[in-house]
Amino acid sequence: MSRARGLHAGTLIPHGRGNPQARLDLQQRCILRHRLHRRSPYCAYCGRRVSRKRSTLDHIRPIIRGGRDSGANLVLSCRDCNQSKGDRTPVEWCLAILRAALALQLRALAWALLGIRP
Ligand SMILES: [Zn+2]
Repeated sequence: MSRARGLHAGTLIPHGRGNPQARLDLQQRCILRHRLHRRSPYCAYCGRRVSRKRSTLDHIRPIIRGGRDSGANLVLSCRDCNQSKGDRTPVEWCLAILRAALALQLRALAWALLGIRP
């Protein structure tokens, strides 16, 4: 990896990090994804091992929410987590999962208390 390709040697931080509008091109994204995978081949969210081919880059803070397209805001994730998270922050995504799980538990509890079988 050379500096001419837009990534600092030995780091994952792309050039142009001072410019919030700077976006990584396709080749830079591919290189960054491979570097992240080489460093740790696990999804940042669910912890499952993900193949390099099936791995994706996820913006921790989505671009649409003001996140940057930089190494500091990108993590390796599996496709399932990336699609499930969507344009939410990790906290928003976790809260949505917890809310859904809690709603299921409360419904099951209510049915049990009322003697209703699903
Ligand atoms: Zn995952």
